Amino acid sequence: MNTSSILPPADKSKLEALLASVGAGTANFLGYPVAKEFDYSALMPFLQYPLNNLGDPFIPSTYSVGTRELEKEVVEFFARLFRAPASDWWGYVTNGGSEGNLYALYLARELYPKGMVYYSGATHYSVQKNLHLLNMPSIVIRTQENGEMDYDDLENMISMHRHLPAIVLANIGTTMTEARDDVKRIKHILNRMAIRQHYIHADGALSGSYSAFLEDRPAFDFADGANSIAISGHKFIGSPIPCGVVVAQKSYRDRIARSVAYIGTLDTTITGSRNGHSPLFLWYAVKSMGMEGLAARAHQALEIAAYAEEQLQAIGIPAWRNKDTLTVVFPEPEEHIRRKWQLASENGWSHIICMPGVTRALIDSFIAEMAAAAVLVG
Ligand SMILES: *Cc1c(COP(=O)(O)O)cnc(C)c1O
Repeated sequence: MNTSSILPPADKSKLEALLASVGAGTANFLGYPVAKEFDYSALMPFLQYPLNNLGDPFIPSTYSVGTRELEKEVVEFFARLFRAPASDWWGYVTNGGSEGNLYALYLARELYPKGMVYYSGATHYSVQKNLHLLNMPSIVIRTQENGEMDYDDLENMISMHRHLPAIVLANIGTTMTEARDDVKRIKHILNRMAIRQHYIHADGALSGSYSAFLEDRPAFDFADGANSIAISGHKFIGSPIPCGVVVAQKSYRDRIARSVAYIGTLDTTITGSRNGHSPLFLWYAVKSMGMEGLAARAHQALEIAAYAEEQLQAIGIPAWRNKDTLTVVFPEPEEHIRRKWQLASENGWSHIICMPGVTRALIDSFIAEMAAAAVLVG
C-alpha cells in the first residue's frame, strides 16, 4: 500500500514539503547531540509489521511479533561494554535516555525509599521531572567551572544527611559542556563516609555510548561503582526513532519484579507496549559496526570536534572543550547563527556537538559564518 498515492493532493504536497524541510534542517544542525549518519534501509521491510516488545524482554511473552531476542543481544552488548558483573545484569531498550534515568531512579527508590538524591546543577532537565514524578527528595550539588560535579560540595551535603541512604546521579556528559562526573571518585566518597546504603546511577545519555572506546577510559561504568547506566540510542549511535538502553544490576531489578508480582505481572519496565523497531536499529548498528567500527566512529567524531575547536580559536573565538568530548563551547553568537545552526545556549554560552555525520566541510561553512559575523560586530 502506497499511502502517499491515496492522499488528497493538498495533503500529498504537505507531506512532500515536510520531507524537504526535515532534510534541510538535518543537514544544518550542529547544536543537538543527534547523529545523522546512519543507513537502516536494510530494515525497511520491518515497517510492515506491528512489532511490539511489551513487558520484560527477558521474560517470554505470548505476543510474539517483536524483536525481544535481538533486544536482549543489545542489552548484553552494552552490559559487557559497561563492565557489568558477569551474571548480575539486566536491562531493556527504552524510548530514550530520560526513560532510562526514570527507570534507574525508580529502582533506587524501591531499594531505598528514604533515600536522598544528589545531582549536580548541570544535570539534564529531565532528571528533575523524573524526581518530581517519583516524589523523591533531592539536593542540587554545585558544579565546577567545566560543568563537572563539585565533589567537596557533594561530600558536604552527604555529611549533612548521613542518616539517609544516598542516591547519586552522575552525569557522563552534561548537556551544555559534556562534562563527566567521576563515578569512581563518587563511590570513594560514599565508602569513605561509610554510607552503606547507597546507589549510583550514571546518566550516559550523551557520552556513555562512546566513553568506553577512549584510550584514557573515564570512570563511568559498573566496574567503577555504578549500579545502573542509561544511554540514548539516537545520539552517538544514531536512530530514526528516539531510543535508549538502560542496564541495571539484575539483583536490584529482581526486587522490583517481586514487588509488582502481586498484581499478577512481571512487567518490570515503565511503559506497557514497547517499541519493537528501535531494538532492531540498535542491534543492526552494533552488529554492523562492531566494537572496532564504534571505536573508529568515536575517534572520527573526536577529530572533528578538535578541528572545530581549533578553527574557532583561529578566528579569535575563545572556544574550549572538556577532554575527549564532542562538544565545543563558545560565547553565544548572534541570533541568526543560532537559529540557522540550531544552537542551544545558556548563560551566555553556546555549543556545537560534533556527532557522527558532522563533516569538516560543515564545520568550515559554520566557521565562515562565524568569522563573517565577528567582522560585522568587530
Ligand atoms: C539527551 C540527554 C538526556 C535525555 O535523553 P533523551 O534520549 O532525549 O530522553 C538526559 N541526560 C543527558 C545528559 C542528555 O544529554
